[in-house]
Amino acid sequence: MSIRQAIEKVEARYAHQPEFVQAVKEVALTIAPLYDAHPEFQKMKIFERLVEPDRIIAFRINWENDKGEVQVNRGWRVQFSNALGPYKGGLRFHPTVNQSVLKFLGFEQIFKNALTGLPIGGGKGGSDFDPKGKTDSEIRRFCYAFMRELHHYVSKDMDVPAGDIGVGSREVSYMYAMYKNLTHEYSGVLTGKGVGFGGSLMRTEATGYGAVYFLENMLKVQNDDIKGKKVLISGAGNVSLHAAEKVCMLGGIAITVSDSKGTLYDEKGLNQEKIDWLKKQKDQGKPLTDYIEVFGGEWLAGQTPWHIKADIAIPSATQNEVDEEDAQKMVENGVKYVVEGANMPLTAKAIDRVCENRVHYAPGKAANAGGVAVSALEMSQNSVRQYKTFDQIDERLKNIMKNIHDSAAAASEEYGQTDNGYIDYMAGANIVGFKRVADALVAYGILN
Ligand code: NDP
Repeated sequence: MSIRQAIEKVEARYAHQPEFVQAVKEVALTIAPLYDAHPEFQKMKIFERLVEPDRIIAFRINWENDKGEVQVNRGWRVQFSNALGPYKGGLRFHPTVNQSVLKFLGFEQIFKNALTGLPIGGGKGGSDFDPKGKTDSEIRRFCYAFMRELHHYVSKDMDVPAGDIGVGSREVSYMYAMYKNLTHEYSGVLTGKGVGFGGSLMRTEATGYGAVYFLENMLKVQNDDIKGKKVLISGAGNVSLHAAEKVCMLGGIAITVSDSKGTLYDEKGLNQEKIDWLKKQKDQGKPLTDYIEVFGGEWLAGQTPWHIKADIAIPSATQNEVDEEDAQKMVENGVKYVVEGANMPLTAKAIDRVCENRVHYAPGKAANAGGVAVSALEMSQNSVRQYKTFDQIDERLKNIMKNIHDSAAAASEEYGQTDNGYIDYMAGANIVGFKRVADALVAYGILN
């Protein structure tokens, strides 16, 4: 079966899972040159095997709210592929979570994790639980109840979840406490733990910082640098605020952050004091709009940042937050680099629009791989029970992001996707990630 036929099969079978189909098509359409060069991949049906997860575990979570009312949520763990190591990928708590979203995230995670060069497979999980407006004790009870179910299916050498949207260090700590309580095991079963009890330094910063390190590598290829460049960032969560922090540290000017209610535009640019304030505000669940009274700037209610003039965009909120029209606005407003901090924040048409205008584009699976890379370093620190310093991890992260950049750029060149200096990072990243997994699957035979 050709790649084209395999896509049609996925489209027909999973028409009700649009995000998953979108992610599969993005990978499939770019790996054709690799497939042509490796007939064994077709013979072993590698692509058809990889679009089906090893398994999906679905469960119910019963918990009680503060009024003593019984609440029922759904939870899932998608164990997609353990060809290169234990299943690894975050847990998302958000009302939009369903099997389509988790399968798209898990599928992407396989190749992202392969790109890091570290021994981790791909998975993803979460719940349709909405943490917004919940008290701390409700969050705690939900996390305990979630892990009461999930603990049957995860372990330090088999499946190692982490955080994602709605799951930060507080939630990871609650889940870790329940895992320990049920299993009597003090192990690296979750990453993103608190630094005092097995967490790695720099895990919190890693995704945002890593995306900006990736950007630095892209700029270098174009003999450019970040100093003085205006940067649009969406989201005001873990990835966004740490991307903003690293942009500022390197002399760039981050002029926006956003959330589901609107965009905060600070023409003068964020600085460390403003970012620290934003982090605290987010931790306390308070609105971004308070910023205006303290630091000035403008609140653009109900708007995204993409209509503002800038040099660089780092969408870091959620999937499909940038559509074709937004991409067109970016192009018209002078954006020259788009780096995905979030997973699949650009729609397929938005990607086409930026690429046809030769805007340098880094897909999430390459640019935001820093988080999972440091999670893998947390796993190895947990195994040997020895911990690295912040600077040691930062150095590893920089090297990993450089290696991802360089290997994607080299594959784009090798497979004829680089056009007159314009690197197709999406094709390059997909080819490198897919090939690493495919080579392992071929070596295993037909198990896996
Ligand atoms: P957080 O929960 O910390 O923050 C998410 C931010 O995005 C919030 O400000 C939220 O606003 C905003 N947001 C969510 N949905 C929407 C929406 N529909 N429209 C506008 N804004 C929205 O999540 P993270 O920062 O951890 O994750 C962000 C993205 O990065 C996700 O795609 C995630 O999968 C990806 N990612 C995260 C990694 C990590 O290490 N955390 C690793 C790799 C990728 P509000 O509060 O109003 O909902």
